[in-house]
Amino acid sequence: MRHPSIRLLVIGLFGFLAALPLLAQAQSPYSPDEPEAGSVEAIAKAVTDPRFTNPWVAYVPGSETVTSPSKYLKHIAGAPGELSSVASIQGYFRELARTSPRVMVETIGKSDEGRDILLAIVSDEASIRGLAELKSAMAALADPRLTSPERAEEIIASSKPFYFLNAGLHSSESGSCEMVMELAYRLAVSDHPMVQNIRRNVVVLINPVSEPDGRDRFVEWFYRYLKGKTDYENLPPISPPYWGRYVFHDNNRDTHQAALETTRAVRKAYFEYHPVAIHDLHESIALLLTWNGTGPFNPNLEPIVISEMFDMSFAEVRSLTALGMPGVWTWAFGEGYGHHYMESVATNHNGIGRGYETFGNATAETVDREVGEWRPQGRPVTRQEWYRPLPPPNKFKWSLRDNVNYMQTGCLAALNFVALNSGDLLRDFYRKGYDSWQKGVTGKPLAFVIPEDQGDRRRVAQMIGLLLGQRIEVGRAAQPISVKEGKFPSGSFVVRLDQPYRNYALDLLAPQKFPKDTDAQPYDDISWAFPVHFGLSATPVEDAEIRKAQLEPVTAPVKVTGRVSGPGPVFLLKDTGQESLLAARARLGAFKVEIVERTFKVGASEFPAGSWILPPQDGLAVKLGEISSELGLDFMSAGTVPNVPRHESRLPRLGLWHPWADTQMIGWVRLVFDRQGIPYTIVRDDDIRAGGLSDRVDILIHGDTEEDVKGQVHGLDRKFSPLAYTKTAEFPSHGSPAASDDITGGIGWSGMVNLQRFVEDGGMLITLGNGSALPLDGGMVSRVRRARGEGGVWTPGVEVTASFLQPQHPIGYGYTGTTSVFRSSYPVYNVRRVDRGLIVLQWGSRPPRELRDEEGEGGKPSQEQEAKAPPLLVSGGIKGEEVLEGRPAILDIPAGKGRVLAYNFNPVYRELNHSDYRLLWNALLNWEAVRGRTNGRVP
Ligand SMILES: [Zn+2]
Repeated sequence: MRHPSIRLLVIGLFGFLAALPLLAQAQSPYSPDEPEAGSVEAIAKAVTDPRFTNPWVAYVPGSETVTSPSKYLKHIAGAPGELSSVASIQGYFRELARTSPRVMVETIGKSDEGRDILLAIVSDEASIRGLAELKSAMAALADPRLTSPERAEEIIASSKPFYFLNAGLHSSESGSCEMVMELAYRLAVSDHPMVQNIRRNVVVLINPVSEPDGRDRFVEWFYRYLKGKTDYENLPPISPPYWGRYVFHDNNRDTHQAALETTRAVRKAYFEYHPVAIHDLHESIALLLTWNGTGPFNPNLEPIVISEMFDMSFAEVRSLTALGMPGVWTWAFGEGYGHHYMESVATNHNGIGRGYETFGNATAETVDREVGEWRPQGRPVTRQEWYRPLPPPNKFKWSLRDNVNYMQTGCLAALNFVALNSGDLLRDFYRKGYDSWQKGVTGKPLAFVIPEDQGDRRRVAQMIGLLLGQRIEVGRAAQPISVKEGKFPSGSFVVRLDQPYRNYALDLLAPQKFPKDTDAQPYDDISWAFPVHFGLSATPVEDAEIRKAQLEPVTAPVKVTGRVSGPGPVFLLKDTGQESLLAARARLGAFKVEIVERTFKVGASEFPAGSWILPPQDGLAVKLGEISSELGLDFMSAGTVPNVPRHESRLPRLGLWHPWADTQMIGWVRLVFDRQGIPYTIVRDDDIRAGGLSDRVDILIHGDTEEDVKGQVHGLDRKFSPLAYTKTAEFPSHGSPAASDDITGGIGWSGMVNLQRFVEDGGMLITLGNGSALPLDGGMVSRVRRARGEGGVWTPGVEVTASFLQPQHPIGYGYTGTTSVFRSSYPVYNVRRVDRGLIVLQWGSRPPRELRDEEGEGGKPSQEQEAKAPPLLVSGGIKGEEVLEGRPAILDIPAGKGRVLAYNFNPVYRELNHSDYRLLWNALLNWEAVRGRTNGRVP
């Protein structure tokens, strides 16, 4: 039966006659659906303004056989004051699959805490039955080497695209998980002509909760602290201190390294289905921004994708604007150069990565909101522009259902576009793979060669593993390779670029060059090339001889095992920069390890400073056998302990400080420590306030943070005290990985005093990135100040040259005199000339500008030396080199009996900059030797 009129009902309920002209413009045909009883009224009641809804989403279609979200949840999706747990959402999708032949669910992964990550597949019955054929059709289009253009046309004519919607990646962006339940149901049961057309022509993939650990933490947080509160400006913190086990908002910066289970699950589904797009659902901007980028775009992208992104975005802007919904826009957000986000899994593999930012409240309550002063691209958000034809109002009431309506309508518009353009999108998908492959056939370079032995064979294997995980094909040379670019031994890895993911291979293997002639501010990092950030060489080869190299395909992760040669009783380990030395020290536990301070020789072998001596000990040979096989380290025997200056390396009692106000960057450090088996204890604000730190830890690491000094000291606002983050029967996901009866108040001034006491009593405080502002700007140490002109320094996530000023310092073990380091936007510090002895590592290789013209510090560099100085920038982009060069990158500052080691970068950044890890590991392995040094003032 046709229902009287959804439109009239909507309008009647609002009683807004003014809405009539808006709705009359709607292009959608009248829906033949019978609304579920009460749904029209419930939705209208939950919407705050008639402009925030439309006929597509103003009702829930009724069904006698298929369970709706309202029946399962006992309320409409997006009902005020209600949020669904992971169990509810996944339970609903399983129920939907049970009751509808148009829906299937499967598990695509497990979260870091072991919760399922689901994928729902929604289409018509024929597509669900024929899923295997549709998948193989897409796999055929994905590899143009196996599929001729003629064959591709046949496939396109008989197939249909997958479209992937990713919900719930950012846990406090709470609406998408609710929305996808209704969307999936609507797609499964509605007879609206548009929905029928979508069902016939598209297979919709939905990941309903991308980060299930964080979803449960957030939903419990809502019920614990936010429910019933509607004064938006005075809400308690809107998010729990943790989302995932390790990582917070940065779970959307993990595409290249794929360190997190959330990323791995989406990538697995991508390679299985090859959807034409991954569409990630976020919340932050009024009222719906459909993103693509302002430029500059990444030159490695196949150009078609840029047009595709704008085509789809403008289709959405047009559709929602036609439905009378204000505040839908595109373009002025992000730059389009970096593709390291969740949806980039598609962009980097010849698909389309796209996303929404809708206006989210985080809380499920309806609240008064203001758009505010934000001026993207220098224009107020409330102004009409070519990319924002109908701007949002400035002040309004906003509800969870408003958010669900915008997001759902946008998704329907996107799916409608895909249904209407399915042939073109499939052809473009094939074309992008074809063109990418052909660039590797006819363009330059032809390949990259990566030697196996570069000091740390395990790190090479890790990098090859990451490439394989991205389905980039890698071969291994059966014989030595000789090309114009050089000679490479057999066993070298070769990435030939005549493959469908050639563009991505190039993006991951060659340094980034962000355009200089743009004022565009990148949204995030502008450097990610693996060899740069792993400290490895990958030589681009243009010589066609490389095509003749016999290559064995590398099909499984490369296992590197080390060797223990000889019977002992003394064992030696040569330091060639291996990342696994810290893990090895941890495995050795109570065994005695000594680290040498000078180069020595045994026979023909030279052991640089940093190498290990393991004196005779019971059970040592067996233990080293285990370690060498697990960590790929080589141990050599010696008859006696070589006579060389050395110190004992005892494993410190290590504390990782988790400020309650910002757990993210230290979370990455914890991830690396957990995966490498490094023991540590979590130190909370509460513990620092309580004092007695030296009874618990020898070293405290204060990680990088977005908080300023004030935030680092005072943490979350005390006015919400006490704010417990504890595990209870009602809130079982809270209290992990750390718990507190009150997470407000930070360490406070008393905590600062305790930190100072800890250092003066002999403790070591290591501060990373912006965490260094605490001792340096906060006044714990006095000989460091901000560099003049530091505001002009611009290093937004780039690789920068750095060099060691104190060749004997243990932090430099395993490195040569000049290296490079990943640097984000941090303050730039300076010390007086007399204090340059505090600098272990400096930016660039030349003295700072004021010392360059003087004698001293090795004298004024000759013109030849100047010419030989390596450029400051290795990958990405840079401004303000003159100010940055010569300034401290690592400071080693004695304080009382202890030490502050202040890093002006983050050596453990998003599991990406492996070549920087040792700069931190060395401090941990040699902490007592560092503490005993007398470096400081230059006389
Ligand atoms: Zn987000």
